[in-house]
Amino acid sequence: MSVWTDTDWRYGFTCVYCKRHLLKDQWHWHLKASEHLVPVKAIEKRFGPEVAKNERDNPNPLNLVTSCYVCNTLKGDGCDPSESGAVAKDEMEKERFIAKASEYIRREMARREPDYRDDLKKFNRPRGGGCILSDYVDAALREATYDKLEDGTYAGRIPSCPGVVAFGASLRTCEQELRSTLEDWILLGLRLGHPLPVVGGIDLNKEPTREPVDTV
Ligand SMILES: [Zn+2]
Repeated sequence: MSVWTDTDWRYGFTCVYCKRHLLKDQWHWHLKASEHLVPVKAIEKRFGPEVAKNERDNPNPLNLVTSCYVCNTLKGDGCDPSESGAVAKDEMEKERFIAKASEYIRREMARREPDYRDDLKKFNRPRGGGCILSDYVDAALREATYDKLEDGTYAGRIPSCPGVVAFGASLRTCEQELRSTLEDWILLGLRLGHPLPVVGGIDLNKEPTREPVDTV
C-alpha cells in the first residue's frame, strides 16, 4: 500500500478538516483530494527545491492527511500551519497543525461568503420570467433520484452534480435538503472556477473575460 492509501485508512476516509465522510457514496468518493498538511510550496520556500522535491517524491506520513476537494482548494498554498515549512515531528504536533489548518479553512470560507452572494445576484438576474440560477436549480432537481433507505428515511442525489447528496426523514425534507446542498455546491463551484454541468440546457459556466488589447 502506498503512504497515501495508508493515510486514508488511518483517517477512515474522512476529511480531517470538515469531517466529511468520503466513502459515504460514489459522489463523495469523487471529492477526495488528500494532501500535504504543510504545503510543498512552503517547504520549498524555507528549505529549497531539493527538500521540496524529496517531500513530493517520498512524502513524510506525518505530513499527509485525507481531505476533500473543498477544503483542499480553500486551504491551497496559503496556509502553512507550521509557519516554518517544517513538517510535524510527531502525531501530537500533526494534530495541532490539523486544528490550525481547519481554523484557516473556516476563516477562508467565511471570507468568501460575500463573494458567493455576489455570484448569487449575478446569476439571479431575470431571464424570460424566471431567474437563471433558480431555473438551473429546478432543472437539476428534476434529474434527482431518491432512494428509500432501510430505516425508512430518504436519500437523494443528482447524478450530474457529483457530491450533491442529501438525506431526510421524509421525501419532502430530503428534497429541501437536496435543494440547499445543490445551491451551496453551485455557488462554491462558481467561486472556485470549477466547470458546472449543463443542466436543462442552462450553462452557468462563465466565459473567460478577455482584457481589451491596448492600442499604443
Ligand atoms: Zn473537507
